[in-house]
Amino acid sequence: MSTSRRSTRAGTRLTPRQTLLLIAVLLVIWVGRQLTRPEPAEPPVIGESTATAVAATSTVAPATAAPTATPKVTRQAAPLPAASQEPVTGLREIIVLHTNDEHGYLLPTENQKSWRGGAGYAAAIWLANGHNPHDPATNTLLLSGGDSWTGPAISTWFEGEPVVEVMNALGYRATVIGNHEFDFGRDVLIKRIGQAQYPYLAANLYREGTTETPDWVQPYLLTEVNGVTVGIIGLAYENTPSVTSTLNLTGLEFGDYAPALEHWVPVVREQGAEVLVVLSHIPGQDLVVLAEQVKELDIALFLGGHDHRTRTSASGGALVATSGGSWEDYIQVRLVYDPATQQVVESEQETISVAVNKSDDSRTPPAEVSAILDKWAERVDVVLGEVIGYTAKGIDRRSAEMHNLLVDSWLWAYPSATVAMSNTGGFRAGIDQGEITVGDVVGVFPFDNSLLALDVTGEQLQAVLQKAGDAIVVGGVRQKGNKITLKDGTPLKPDGVYQLLVTDYMYYSDDYPFQKYDPEPYETSILWRQPVIDWIKAQHSTEAQPIEALIDDAAWSQN
Ligand SMILES: [Zn+2]
Repeated sequence: MSTSRRSTRAGTRLTPRQTLLLIAVLLVIWVGRQLTRPEPAEPPVIGESTATAVAATSTVAPATAAPTATPKVTRQAAPLPAASQEPVTGLREIIVLHTNDEHGYLLPTENQKSWRGGAGYAAAIWLANGHNPHDPATNTLLLSGGDSWTGPAISTWFEGEPVVEVMNALGYRATVIGNHEFDFGRDVLIKRIGQAQYPYLAANLYREGTTETPDWVQPYLLTEVNGVTVGIIGLAYENTPSVTSTLNLTGLEFGDYAPALEHWVPVVREQGAEVLVVLSHIPGQDLVVLAEQVKELDIALFLGGHDHRTRTSASGGALVATSGGSWEDYIQVRLVYDPATQQVVESEQETISVAVNKSDDSRTPPAEVSAILDKWAERVDVVLGEVIGYTAKGIDRRSAEMHNLLVDSWLWAYPSATVAMSNTGGFRAGIDQGEITVGDVVGVFPFDNSLLALDVTGEQLQAVLQKAGDAIVVGGVRQKGNKITLKDGTPLKPDGVYQLLVTDYMYYSDDYPFQKYDPEPYETSILWRQPVIDWIKAQHSTEAQPIEALIDDAAWSQN
């Protein structure tokens, strides 16, 4: 039986290119033996030691390598199964690492004893676990579920460029078009795609009125891991137009998921894919439904994004996973493919938390990543010195001006919202008289909270306002005695539905009932201070026309 399989493979599968590769493989095995290379940390093939040696050294590449040259490992090297010599009976292990909604959180948060999150520490952990996306011998496939930028200054002030640079250095093999990929406009997105050493996938993103993929996106990627051809099909979130500025989506359409998969899966299989992965920006709960819906397509793994909720589950015979975002955790999937039966015979996944004890020096970010982060952190410092406006009198931390500056800037940035609410505890400093810098605003609002938009009824809003009293500041409504009106004087309707902006801090706080009111808020991923900076800049205030003349100085609850 093994003989017949051997001859079948040799007869039908060896193209001239493969023959060349095979020669290269054999050459490199020989080179490898001369150089006594160390064994890889994890055997790429399970259960067959001869095949292990072949696969480990076949990740090579220049076919012209002189026998004394160090074999150069390349990411795209396609390890050929040792087809003509040995039957491919060994099981093949594939490690998939997945992050999504990284949102520019390149740097970790720090407390006294540990580091939490951050691109560098995520890499430190997967490298310590023996999974190196740059080293084909570790069979590691690093993927992102999109929404990689928009977040802290190190990402947002440079329109995502530092994120792409870091993701290149980390060795991402593919990502997908998330809604936030459009945040800086389509031209910037296309520029970032040009800088990325990995493709942006979306099989359900079409030119309006067609089923053609725009030329800056590709529907799928075929890639080799441990001698197995993995087909990765991308899916954008079908509701992208309702969660991003439609200005950036002119001429584009986001189609249904299942028809896109039904179209592309046969194409990808025809091109040689042995294991199929869906890489998407689809929230976990929708992805579970999709996996069941298309179970006959025999897709091994569905990876999602967008909802910032860590989930590992199974549906329709496939694994389904999303990570929580911000590189605070990642999903580690292990697939075992049997070339003999052409089936994934084992699959498992786990969530790895990115938390590193400061005393643990076995987990340090790769030097190349640290260098990139240091470079951009320095540039952030320069940005913090940027002058954005002028105040003649200064703005006191506890003044109505400061409170209104915050909540009114949110309503300015998000005109669809009616009400904006913040707790007063978040205001940490005043702004001194004179020039206002970006750093001054960061000093007032130092915490990296982001804005959420949720739907509440007038009755719910009234209850929160009355209970919170002086602990909050509010924009968009006025309070006279017990009566709350909108700014234009219209009374709040108890059964009316209003969009409310709050910080994620308030939303998740036990002090407020927001999670109960709207369990699925829209996460803007915009830091709460960013609209303040943008609004001050837009006023072009000067010594002759200081900013305070433009800020509402009436406390929301006292007129
Ligand atoms: Zn998203």
